[in-house]
Amino acid sequence: MIEQQYETLLKKNVVQEIKNISVWKELLGKSVVNEEQLDLICKGNIDKEKIRAVIKRYPMRINPYYLSLIKKKDDPIWKQCIPDIRELEDPEGFEDPLCEERDSPVPGLTHRYPDRVLFLVCNQCAMYCRFCTRKRKVGDPFKRITKKQIMQGIEYIRKHKEIRDVLLSGGDPLLLSDAYLEWILKELRKIPHVKIIRIGTRIPCALPHRITPELCEMLKKYHPLYINVHFEHPDEITELSAKACEMLSDAGIPLSSQTVLLKGVNDDPKVMKELMQKLLEIRVRPYYIYQADMTKGINHFRTKVEKGIEIIKAIQGWTSGLAVPHFVIDSPGGGGKIPLLPNYVVERDDKKIVLKNYKGNMYTYIEHC
Ligand SMILES: *Cc1c(COP(=O)(O)O)cnc(C)c1O
Ligand code: SF4
Repeated sequence: MIEQQYETLLKKNVVQEIKNISVWKELLGKSVVNEEQLDLICKGNIDKEKIRAVIKRYPMRINPYYLSLIKKKDDPIWKQCIPDIRELEDPEGFEDPLCEERDSPVPGLTHRYPDRVLFLVCNQCAMYCRFCTRKRKVGDPFKRITKKQIMQGIEYIRKHKEIRDVLLSGGDPLLLSDAYLEWILKELRKIPHVKIIRIGTRIPCALPHRITPELCEMLKKYHPLYINVHFEHPDEITELSAKACEMLSDAGIPLSSQTVLLKGVNDDPKVMKELMQKLLEIRVRPYYIYQADMTKGINHFRTKVEKGIEIIKAIQGWTSGLAVPHFVIDSPGGGGKIPLLPNYVVERDDKKIVLKNYKGNMYTYIEHC
């Protein structure tokens, strides 16, 4: 489906060794960002007018690596990155369903839980996911995050001694240069009450070339550092993304994953189980599966909540416990993440509890009194 000429270009760039430090910038520079480029690649197989209308509101960026993962029109990779007119036709969603702005004492920082903060340090990504919960600002050139804003965030963290965990997110923090990111990490490490630092990133999945030996050398100076990667589909686990995760793991960084439950992408217990198993194979520990947020423009990706429970049921007990993430709803209105479990308790009184195992067999546990 990808045009011949573009295909050659892709092969040349994508298959390059991950070690070449400038490759990722070059690839990012060759991203598809407008409907003309997309039309060329899709050989006229798209509705240019509709794509243009969507991009005007929500930007598109698909770097050649991520683009090369598409096998055919409307496959799970396509759906994640190609604009869809339904993004503009969503009657239900909210710009900021999690009320991140309301719980934000300084711009870009959300302090919701007692001991940790969400700190947005970059509003750019290596590709723009159509289902992004921060669609309202991610990728918008007028909503860039300034150095001044980051300094305000750091100042807030310094003043609030209860903050022991800082979660850098965005956009994608790993799109910042090594030097700029190191400045942020260094400033945070100067604060004694900040015990752990986490980075949420889609880079190992969306542009693994960004994970260079130099970046890993820099990151490992700021332990304890944790990275949460973001994969949605088994097709995203490639030799290159596996290599990127291996390099981060070898730098001593524990990796976990977040996955959003998306209609037409991964709303199938078989697909999700395969994804969780493959993540473990690349040393990534599944952490969260999210019910899709009630974000404006992503209604067509939302599934029933029951689907998520069905998925956990199909994983728990049937494969390694390490492959079982928490299925959560990030509560609309800003209540934080709430876990949902299949119901394993059949009956309970003050003497016993009757339980159902993963196969549906019943077991009674008598309580000690
Ligand atoms: C998800 C989130 C966190 C981190 O939550 P954990 O459950 O500790 O991973 C922190 N702050 C905000 C606002 C969040 O949305
Ligand atoms: S990588 Fe994350 S922040 Fe960026 S567009 Fe995708 S979901 Fe949104």
